[in-house]
Amino acid sequence: MRRHYFLGDYCIIAAERGKRPSDFKHEGTKERSDPNTCPFCPGNEEMTPPAVAVYTDDGIFSDGEDRVKNWWARSFQNLYPAATPKPEPPTKEWVAEFARGGHEVIVESPDHKSDPARFSRQELERLVLVYRDRYSRRISQEGVAYVSIFKNWGRVAGASISHTHSQLIALPIVPPALIREMDTATSAPRCPYCSLAEREATSERLIFENEGFVLIAPFCSQVPYETWILPRKHLSSLEELDRADLQDLGQVLGEALRRLDRLLSGPPYNYSISQLPDRRYHLNIRIQPAISTVAGFEKNTGIFINTVPPEEAARDLREV
Ligand SMILES: [Zn+2]
Ligand SMILES: [Zn+2]
Repeated sequence: MRRHYFLGDYCIIAAERGKRPSDFKHEGTKERSDPNTCPFCPGNEEMTPPAVAVYTDDGIFSDGEDRVKNWWARSFQNLYPAATPKPEPPTKEWVAEFARGGHEVIVESPDHKSDPARFSRQELERLVLVYRDRYSRRISQEGVAYVSIFKNWGRVAGASISHTHSQLIALPIVPPALIREMDTATSAPRCPYCSLAEREATSERLIFENEGFVLIAPFCSQVPYETWILPRKHLSSLEELDRADLQDLGQVLGEALRRLDRLLSGPPYNYSISQLPDRRYHLNIRIQPAISTVAGFEKNTGIFINTVPPEEAARDLREV
């Protein structure tokens, strides 16, 4: 059993002898939907709520009566929001917390068939820019304490529409897991993520690095081929990224997705960005392929059983 020394998570590495990447069967992310009826395709903008941000070569706009065309990314309110700006009043039940906030869909490309594992350098940089912009707008809003940005790729990973998109949910609270992380960081002599990024840069769990970031298989990987992206500098959120950092982050994200795509033949996956407007926090991005099952034991204990040691996962991802 392994324990992540500052997150407090446990995981069990139960390596199944000789299990290779090709042993992980999944249904893939093959195209099923029709671009003519896809609400995320150019020409079908009327099928979505008006966009709060439309990213174009001429700048960032929002939809008025007419929908803005010629975009490379657009973000609008989710039709079925998990958190809304005008919440229902709390009930007499135990949970009386307002889910105040917002829920956006970010369409990352006008191309229906586009796959982030094949994004060009420019597309990756734009993606990071859009994430930074949406984060910035939302975190500065009254009553918003946390902004969750995540991507579900493939149906089994939770994407109901195949056209590439991410989601943003703004919350009135900081998730308990992040509060715990910050508490631990405060009592440590140095930021644990800074130490981790430095130490893992020379470990067998390193997959890729550039000047600004490292891509690693975490020591306590919950699922096979999990990876983390960490800035080497102590940055708390995407807002602190300068031009060079943005380019580096785009590059490392592209490397992570391409390597997973090649090694596991286009797996479904989730990634999420953890960040806070708090200098104690250290920005991190976690990518988890959705190729294993979370079952009874995980639900009972919160401890994951992972059949691929991260050291092997890192070697495979380095060499692919
Ligand atoms: Zn589409
Ligand atoms: Zn740090």
